[in-house]
Amino acid sequence: MSDDIVELTTKHTYGTWRAQRGWKPIHVTRAEGCAFWDASGKRYLDLSSQLICSNLGHQNEAVIEAICAQARQLAYISPAHTCEVRARVAQKLLEVMPKGLDKFFFATSGTEANEAAFKMARLYTGKHKIIARYTSYHGSTAGSVAATGDFRRWFIEPAGKIPGVVFGPEVNCYRCPLGRSHPECGVACADYLAYMIDHEENVAAVIVEPVVGTNGVLIPPADYLPKIAEVARKRGVLLIADEVMSGWGRTGKWFAVDHWGVVPDILTTAKGVTNAAAPLGVVATSRAIADYFDDNMFAHGHTYEAHPLTLAPVIAAIDEYRRLDLLERATKMGDVVGAKLRALKEKHPSIGDVRGIGLFWAVELVKDRATKEPFNVPQDKAARRPLVVDAVVAEAAKRGVSVMGWVSHLLVAPPLIISEAEIDEGIAALDAALDVADQRLSA
Ligand code: PMP
Repeated sequence: MSDDIVELTTKHTYGTWRAQRGWKPIHVTRAEGCAFWDASGKRYLDLSSQLICSNLGHQNEAVIEAICAQARQLAYISPAHTCEVRARVAQKLLEVMPKGLDKFFFATSGTEANEAAFKMARLYTGKHKIIARYTSYHGSTAGSVAATGDFRRWFIEPAGKIPGVVFGPEVNCYRCPLGRSHPECGVACADYLAYMIDHEENVAAVIVEPVVGTNGVLIPPADYLPKIAEVARKRGVLLIADEVMSGWGRTGKWFAVDHWGVVPDILTTAKGVTNAAAPLGVVATSRAIADYFDDNMFAHGHTYEAHPLTLAPVIAAIDEYRRLDLLERATKMGDVVGAKLRALKEKHPSIGDVRGIGLFWAVELVKDRATKEPFNVPQDKAARRPLVVDAVVAEAAKRGVSVMGWVSHLLVAPPLIISEAEIDEGIAALDAALDVADQRLSA
């Protein structure tokens, strides 16, 4: 039975961001809380909330119930009309969004949210360039992948590379792209973005992941984002905060920008907004942008825009984040996870760096702590060379722990409801699995 499912899946459906050969997905039959089960009954502790999206844990009752109730009442209505859930979700979002972002566009993914954000920024400013950063991911369709700095962009080049995206340095205090160190650097990487804006004509927006996600949980020093916001504001360039992964309690606040009191002109989000139980992407815009479109064509839209079933779980999800006190809990449990990961670093010479905020952690694997040489580089992943991190992930999976690996780091970002006992279970499996990376050191 299970083989059938896996075979039908791999033969007739595409596995994404991979060559198809060798793909053997786990056939998941059930999920609950911080765990999921395969067809043989094996349990996996979910240390990465799937794609860092099931923040409330799996099968949250209130969320599921809201979707079922909406499906029975009104499963679809054209976005040219309205319905109660659309209005109420907008009203509810006002409670949690950074103050001043008060008009929303509802898409069906983080990718689509960023596409819409770019279009809005271009229409609003009348300019077309987007400044993004190399170590970033913003989505997989034409515009959003063109603004993606990491290797996922390489596959569309040169034909698919849309004009007008310019890349600058990311903020990465472990491997500073400018070879500097904080605080002596005075966040030179932020100054560099200012320099770029000044030397490029026609810049509409700068897009940043306030805490870089898949590419390794890069947390900016406190002076970085306020500086970027100021630099952009002074030059009439919009700041787009991509909070697709960093939003919804992941860092211990509703949104990562809240840590630094920065209100972007546009905030995009998805994932945790519905606990990933329905595909919603949100673009939140400032009043100035909203006002602009009062008298100018908002030249955008989809059949599934503001889809009632994608909006249905939002209110329940926000209420659940509050009822379970998950922002607070992410901070508290994040400290526990951080301490335990740092203890692993003491023990495993293959760990070069451990960094995190809230329940959003990266464990970076290196061949040599002194030189920081990583085991693998993005070129290895693009060329399908075996990655050390994948061997660690496979070893953890054997021990019943699911964790996401990316090029040369692990992403430890469990559901925000995780208990201390579950953290211990996950850390024990990582401890054993990391021996695989240590062995590569001496090999
Ligand atoms: N931006 C960021 C920061 C992301 O992490 C992701 C997805 N991992 C996206 C955009 C794209 O979102 P989606 O996969 O929902 O299209």
